[in-house]
Amino acid sequence: MSVRILIVGAGPAGLAAAVSLRLQGLPVTVVDKAAAPHTHPKAIVLWPRALEIFDRLGIADRLEAAGHPLTNQHYHSNGTRVASLTFSKLRHTKYRYALAIPQHTTERILRERLGELGGSIRTHTELTALRQDAATVTTTLTDLDTGIAQEETYDWVIGADGVHSSVRTATGIAFSGQTYEQTFLLSDGPCDTELATDSAHYFMTDTGVLVMVPLPDRQWRAFISAPREIPEGEPLLDTVARVVSMRSPVPVRFLEGHTAGRFRIHRKAAEHVWRSRVFLVGDAAHAHSPAGAQGINTGVEDATSLAWRLAGVCRGSVVASDSDRVFTQWADERHQVVANVLRDTDLQTRMWGVRGLRGRLRDAVLYGAERTGLLDRVVIPRQTQIVQRFSPGPGRGRPKAVGALRSHARLPNVEISTDGAPGARLHDFLSMTEPIAIEFDPAGTPGHRTTVSRRAARGKEFDVVSLTGPALRSALGISRRVTCIVRPDGIVAAVAPHTTSTKGVSTP
Ligand SMILES: Cc1cc2nc3c(=O)[nH]c(=O)nc-3n(C[C@H](O)[C@H](O)[C@H](O)COP(=O)(O)OP(=O)(O)OC[C@H]3O[C@@H](n4cnc5c(N)ncnc54)[C@H](O)[C@@H]3O)c2cc1C
Repeated sequence: MSVRILIVGAGPAGLAAAVSLRLQGLPVTVVDKAAAPHTHPKAIVLWPRALEIFDRLGIADRLEAAGHPLTNQHYHSNGTRVASLTFSKLRHTKYRYALAIPQHTTERILRERLGELGGSIRTHTELTALRQDAATVTTTLTDLDTGIAQEETYDWVIGADGVHSSVRTATGIAFSGQTYEQTFLLSDGPCDTELATDSAHYFMTDTGVLVMVPLPDRQWRAFISAPREIPEGEPLLDTVARVVSMRSPVPVRFLEGHTAGRFRIHRKAAEHVWRSRVFLVGDAAHAHSPAGAQGINTGVEDATSLAWRLAGVCRGSVVASDSDRVFTQWADERHQVVANVLRDTDLQTRMWGVRGLRGRLRDAVLYGAERTGLLDRVVIPRQTQIVQRFSPGPGRGRPKAVGALRSHARLPNVEISTDGAPGARLHDFLSMTEPIAIEFDPAGTPGHRTTVSRRAARGKEFDVVSLTGPALRSALGISRRVTCIVRPDGIVAAVAPHTTSTKGVSTP
């Protein structure tokens, strides 16, 4: 295919876009201004939804092998546990835990995968200018070894170049919001402690927050809000170690080999994530507090939910006149996700900081939310990004639902045995490139059957997977034949009671 796609930035979002596009047979050029991969302590948690995406990119097994599973998240207030999240309570997913894994390991595995798919990264190459017209994007790429700047023309550009995105600035897209006043400090390294290694621990105290997260290889991430006063000349690592022992009710002693860093956090979003031939994904599109660990996860989803649409446009399976509608849908959905992430992470960050009477109120709310099951029903699915429900947009009616199948929402990845392959799950049938139709027939012959054929609906053809058998009744709560159109990103585009022509099902 002769299409030219440039991805600016080889962080997790850019790499996920590159791998996904390569898997769909598209050539990509990836540039990064860094001379070599970084090893900084950054994101450390992958949630189940990101693991589902990485599974489809063919690297979930490698990530699992390199990571450390977390099954719980405990909240303590001034030494007393007030609430816990238990990820094993998640339903309808293969991944009922969070994976602790340093960001540079995730990036290494993504880079390896890109290499296997014939892709590579032009390192030490910075995008220094960009302009676009209706047909092309003209970029200036500067080789930072030689200082030589060169104009290169692309059909599409994906800006995955982080919070200070040059693509965003050159495209004239505003990035508005605020920077929090509070500074945070962190340190990664081995610790001598009896804190449980299957859980993340949040300690909210009257002097600030401490978060302790176990990492692979018996390492820990310690993350603190900086204390108001730091003795002059105290090394950063000593400050973190001192504050950790002060705020943790369980002794924590730093052993040799810790790195330490200081950072400010933002609550900002790009006004647009798409302008004509340029897209923004990851931190280039949104920056938020690491509370709830949403950054890398949201960026990877931005990238892969764009990739199948862009590939469809490049291949011509989405006709040119329809491409605006397809990209508008992507941009609308990403804005909805980002609004939720900004709200949730802001709430968590503020929750960390309250003290006195308001702190006791927060504790009571957390305690009550756990006891009433609200954390299990609402907080866990949202934080792990397993529940995704989009609004269809003005004038497009309300989402339709039959049992657990709901339009504009993630297809529950229930386990289902088909054709003698026990353990198969619904997402195993998804296509990388095109929406498919799934017909569910709970009254069909027990034993289940999968057939693949082509079926037309509203002028479009879909591969049709037929799943039969009473197990569907309990797994999905459906008692009659139902047809769904499911997008490559696992979102149900439409759901309707089955008709042989699937006329009632509108195309995605
Ligand atoms: C201390 C810390 C802790 C965090 N913890 C978590 C966590 O637990 N969970 C979580 O999900 N997130 C966390 N995050 C956020 C997470 O690290 C980011 O969301 C993630 O790195 C964003 O990925 P990205 O690919 O969008 O951008 P980046 O990782 O920033 O990558 C951008 C890339 O673009 C390159 N680049 C920039 N400008 C140019 C240019 N002009 N030309 C060419 N290349 C360019 C850069 O060199 C870089 O490689 C944390 C962040 C920090 C700093």
